[in-house]
Amino acid sequence: MQDPTTATSTAPMTDLDPPDTSTGHAAITPRALQVREPAPTDLATRDRIFSIEDVTISYSGKAAVRDIAFPIYKNEITALIGPSGCGKTTLLRALNRMNDLIPTAKVEGKVFYHDIDLYDSAVDPVQVRKRIGMVFQKPNPFPKSIYDNIAFGPRVLGMKGDMDSIVESALRKGALWDEVKDRLKTNAFGMSGGQQQRLCIARALAIEPDVILMDEPCSALDPISTGRIEDLMHELRADYSIVIVTHNMQQAARVSDMTAFFTVELGQDESRTGRVVEYDATEKIFTSPSDPRTEAYVTGKVG
Ligand code: ADP
Ligand code: MG
Repeated sequence: MQDPTTATSTAPMTDLDPPDTSTGHAAITPRALQVREPAPTDLATRDRIFSIEDVTISYSGKAAVRDIAFPIYKNEITALIGPSGCGKTTLLRALNRMNDLIPTAKVEGKVFYHDIDLYDSAVDPVQVRKRIGMVFQKPNPFPKSIYDNIAFGPRVLGMKGDMDSIVESALRKGALWDEVKDRLKTNAFGMSGGQQQRLCIARALAIEPDVILMDEPCSALDPISTGRIEDLMHELRADYSIVIVTHNMQQAARVSDMTAFFTVELGQDESRTGRVVEYDATEKIFTSPSDPRTEAYVTGKVG
């Protein structure tokens, strides 16, 4: 078993080479898509956590998303937006090899996490998911106590240290400690939906990942609980990189630094394939997008 944090990839990152400082231009030429990149000066100072290179993901041979290529930056919040069925969840799952759990799913292209080729046969998907945590649409606490929900992952992984401290630290990071410190041994199902979702975030944080993937984490929550999760995301950004799928455009505009807008392309054979139309700084996407399809979507002209 190889630890992906130490594994190195020999694969050349041809499509996403570092900026060519001699010309002042970024040597980034996403092949299949007209994906916009931030200014080269920006790029030089921003570390990447992922490089997605020409990724096509299919189910039973039918492409759900095609030719996806963009970088995801460290300690930033990256939003994936677009109409239902355009492949946001599919791409998100590819970032921690959750698609491995779907027998019909096939990922082509490259996904680099730091400099590790995530789909290299030497990479252990369990180790990947330890570094890249996931939070789902519906809060899914285990039918256990609050304490045991958090302690579960660290116990399974045999993490060293005092379990009470690990639990407290994760609950603090999840902005939940003050609300639950007097009822740690009570069942997690007794919490409100918003608390349960923060528990799921704290549970993901307990195993010390550096990325959190969130798939519409607030879609089942009321506006106040949603606001708390958004505040929490802002706090977490200092220490983690976050990729969030959201249906809520105001949320993408409020929380994210970068936004990828996906759309569904209809093939002649009626097939539906997700593509990235535009990827840029969130402010740009929402105030002066480059593509008319993005503008129509963010202004609510099309859903
Ligand atoms: P989004 O999250 O943007 O709504 P999804 O990634 O869930 O989109 O779905 C993209 C496409 O892939 C859809 O056509 C969907 O039906 C299909 N799809 C998603 N998951 C599966 C699966 N497990 N098996 C087969 N097809 C799937
Ligand atoms: Mg989805």
